[in-house]
Amino acid sequence: MQSKTEEMAQYKYSHYLENSSDPRFDPAFPPGTEAPHSGIYKCQGCGTEVVSDAGEPLPPQSHHQHSLNQGRIAWRLVVGTA
Ligand SMILES: [Zn+2]
Repeated sequence: MQSKTEEMAQYKYSHYLENSSDPRFDPAFPPGTEAPHSGIYKCQGCGTEVVSDAGEPLPPQSHHQHSLNQGRIAWRLVVGTA
């Protein structure tokens, strides 16, 4: 059985990260959408993580393949960078 932590962003020192209820963490964007914020984005279908800068396009449809039950690629901000 695959360990859950292999699919999640990791950190060692919690004082570098701060929990936030900011709405910028809520939407999931289609491939190629201009990233509204800089940070780590996670594909909601398969868990793939990427780093994107604000104003740059999120990875395109061709970035990785999904099985049918993983649905569409959708990028969601999981860690915002300052
Ligand atoms: Zn994916």
